[in-house]
This record gives sequence, structure tokens and C-alpha cells, in this order.
Amino acid sequence: MTERLQKELNEQITAELWSANLYLSMSFYMQKEGYEGFAHWMKKQSEEEIEHACKIALYMIARGKTPKIDKIDVVPQSWKGILEVFEDTYKHEKHVSQLIDLLIKVAAEEKDNATQNFLWEFVHEQVEEEASALGILDKLRKTNPTGYLFIDAQLKKR
Ligand code: MG
Repeated sequence: MTERLQKELNEQITAELWSANLYLSMSFYMQKEGYEGFAHWMKKQSEEEIEHACKIALYMIARGKTPKIDKIDVVPQSWKGILEVFEDTYKHEKHVSQLIDLLIKVAAEEKDNATQNFLWEFVHEQVEEEASALGILDKLRKTNPTGYLFIDAQLKKR
């Protein structure tokens, strides 16, 4: 694996952990607002991001490389409401999809087939991540704050 690709994978580990912090921050915000279901859903989301970081780290180790965690930048801490939280979530997942696409491009340029193959799983995962964020966003857009409580109850089951 080339130095350039190692550097990019390490940057993705840091990006996944930033995402984990973002979603945990959103979870705290929603819990504080009294939405336990949304908070629960977002905490699970945060845990998934840590899993993504671990997957990349284990892959690097399997290839004889050293994963590194860089400094994690501060994440947003407040929102105007639930709708804005999910608008930000959907926007962020689209951004992550672009990061993965760029990583695959680098892996292709570095002629690293194994890493390209490894990253396809992340491409599939991003389709799901975008769809689940958009699914909740669509529901929120169609309802009012009373309806939020109904969605909140549903999300407790995640
Ligand atoms: Mg992720």
C-alpha cells in the first residue's frame, strides 16, 4: 500500500470519528429536548461511525500498515430543532459519500485493487446511510411537532 493511500485511509478514520462525535452531539441535543427515540437512533448512528473507523483500522493492520487517529475537530453543539438536525445529517452523509468516492479514486490511481475492493462495502453502506437519513427527513417535512412525537416513538425501536 502506498504512503499516499495510507495517509488518505488515516484521514478517513479521523473523519469517521468526527462523524461519531457529530451524531453523539446531536443525540445529546435531542435527549435534552425530550426526544428519547431520536436520541437513541442518533446514538446508534454514532456507534456505527466508530465501527467504520475500526473497520478501516483493522484493514490497514491486515495489510501490515499502522492506523492513526489524528486530532478530532470540534463538532456543532446546537440546532434550531429536530428538522435542522436531520437536514444536517442528510447533508453530512452526502459529504461522506463524496469522501469515499475520492478514496476509491485514489486507490485506483495507486493501482491498489485490494483497497478498492475493500471500499466498495463503504459505497453500499453510504447508499443506506443516505436513504435512512432522507427517510426520516421526509417524514419530518410532512408532519408538525405533534407528529414528531409519533416518529420519536418509532425510532426507539432501532
Ligand atoms: Mg461512516
